[in-house]
Amino acid sequence: MDFVKTASAKSKIKSSLKEAQKEIASQGKEILTRKLRHIKIPFNENTLNELVNFFNLKTSQDLFVRFGNGNIENAELKKFAAQRSNTFLNFFKTKIRKKNENQTTNKNDDLSLNYDMLVFGKDEEKLEYKKAKCCAPIPGDKVFGFITINEGIKIHKYSCPNAVSLQANYAYRILPAKWIDSKLQEHKVVLILKGVDHDGLVGEVSNVISQNQKVKLYNINISGGEGYFEGKITVGINNNEHLKKLMTALKKIDGIEKIRRQN
Ligand SMILES: [Zn+2]
Repeated sequence: MDFVKTASAKSKIKSSLKEAQKEIASQGKEILTRKLRHIKIPFNENTLNELVNFFNLKTSQDLFVRFGNGNIENAELKKFAAQRSNTFLNFFKTKIRKKNENQTTNKNDDLSLNYDMLVFGKDEEKLEYKKAKCCAPIPGDKVFGFITINEGIKIHKYSCPNAVSLQANYAYRILPAKWIDSKLQEHKVVLILKGVDHDGLVGEVSNVISQNQKVKLYNINISGGEGYFEGKITVGINNNEHLKKLMTALKKIDGIEKIRRQN
């Protein structure tokens, strides 16, 4: 594969992602301005700082992105307003929240990732869930799933006032959960290769795969005889585009005549 080509393609993708992020942020800023006006809170640096703290974010840019993505609901903003109306209480709560944060949330919340999918358990399974009303988690928050009797899985923030008692009394009903970027979710794909065998073919195939940073090689199995071979490789990929690129690169290998996807 032409490395330079790949690198420039990568930087192109990166810059268009950045562009999209900027666009979302600027829309988010407008939305936030409008919403704040509605609840009669001034849009200024002070408010922005308070909001960033309230939603456990790092920068006002992160805040705009969340509003742009529609990740922050009006109810959340109302909570913010209610908390803000009493300065003393506000100060007190912030202190408590800071304390909780240090205990439970790690701040690896990288906003360049778009946490749009929640997965549960060790196997990172996608399951149906609802957001608990008590703490109204938003994507990116540190959360856990709680299996309710009648309403399926509900997710709570670790900083939820109910979290401690739920975990202490119903440990067996707690499901670990984490937010992921669905664009980065890995899918296993099996590719079948056919062609004319020659020395070093397996090496070339695995080279092509390992050069491709977006693809993880799980298994490679090449069999055959009398000059012909059939190969079965299992790879982990994030999306179709990465798969197409890989297949194009594999086709360029001398001897490979056919390549198709098994699943
Ligand atoms: Zn809760």
